[in-house]
Amino acid sequence: MVSGVKPINLTARNTHIIPFDFEYYEPRSIDELIEILSEFRDQAKILAGGTDLIIKMKVRLVEPRVLVNIKKIPGLRYITEDEDYIRIGALTTLRDVEKSEIIRKHLPALHDAVRVMGSIQVRNMATVVGNLCNASPAADTAPPLLVHNARVVVLSSRGERVIPLEEFFKGPGVTVLEPDEVVVEVIAEKATRGSSAFEKVSRVSVDLAIASAAVYAEISSDSVIESVKVAVGSVAPTPLRVRLLEERVKGLRVESEELKRALYVIDREISPITDVRSTAEYRRHVVKILVWNALKRVYKRIKGEV
Ligand SMILES: Cc1cc2nc3c(=O)[nH]c(=O)nc-3n(C[C@H](O)[C@H](O)[C@H](O)COP(=O)(O)OP(=O)(O)OC[C@H]3O[C@@H](n4cnc5c(N)ncnc54)[C@H](O)[C@@H]3O)c2cc1C
Repeated sequence: MVSGVKPINLTARNTHIIPFDFEYYEPRSIDELIEILSEFRDQAKILAGGTDLIIKMKVRLVEPRVLVNIKKIPGLRYITEDEDYIRIGALTTLRDVEKSEIIRKHLPALHDAVRVMGSIQVRNMATVVGNLCNASPAADTAPPLLVHNARVVVLSSRGERVIPLEEFFKGPGVTVLEPDEVVVEVIAEKATRGSSAFEKVSRVSVDLAIASAAVYAEISSDSVIESVKVAVGSVAPTPLRVRLLEERVKGLRVESEELKRALYVIDREISPITDVRSTAEYRRHVVKILVWNALKRVYKRIKGEV
């Protein structure tokens, strides 16, 4: 037990949905949270929206001895902007992002992504940071944030560290976070000269992606791609930037035959699998179409057509 902070005895209440005992904490400050995480380390799990974690607990995929609900910590739910960056707090929900004019204007790909994530009930609970920390290869907020050069701000008893999102994911369900670390904020670069878009294909509307792609690009008025970043989801163990593809498509025209051919280089950068959602072959095929469509939408956005 952490000094001065009493766990709440949940087993004394009517919560029959989770089939094992755990201690439950509701810290009221970051300092209190860090004290709890330092004490329990890998025995503890942070609970934000719970839309991933509670499901995993119900089926005993994870069995934390200590559950730490961070929702009572004030000051973690915000979207702010300065000249170059957007900051998204750890308790900001997908619905907050969907309704945000700042996100729609400056991180359009992220806005596209949250609109097609889960149902409205899920989006009301789920957080952007929880989506990243869950580290699914299909995490829909990851490709948009990767093309906007996002970084995550992490706190622990050792202080603060800032991790580029590109270095954050290690594999399915695994990040570089230490067990006593908490992500407090995501910082992403605004679309300044260009624009961005996100495309996804899934089996039904409320489902994880079969494949997804986000593009940030600067495109001239005669459709030449002057600068581009591309990230994809569900086609590798982690969401990832596809830099070979970026190099190949730079200088080509949107919707040109050359661009169509150049997209095939992505096959050297991805390693899709066959699972319940799709075959690997279909993922390889469709991800190219998603990149193509995302580039077209970015161009339309730059021209002010959508
Ligand atoms: C019906 C349904 C549909 C869904 N559809 C989609 C979809 O279309 N696309 C998609 O990408 N996802 C989807 N999801 C998954 C889920 O909603 C998201 O991944 C969600 O954003 C997770 O956020 P959360 O706040 O609920 O996280 P939680 O479940 O609370 O936490 C997830 C993980 O992150 C850790 N964590 C949370 N916050 C922090 C923090 N601040 N610091 C460190 N670790 C932290 C937790 O310990 C846990 O391991 C869906 C889920 C459901 C139930």
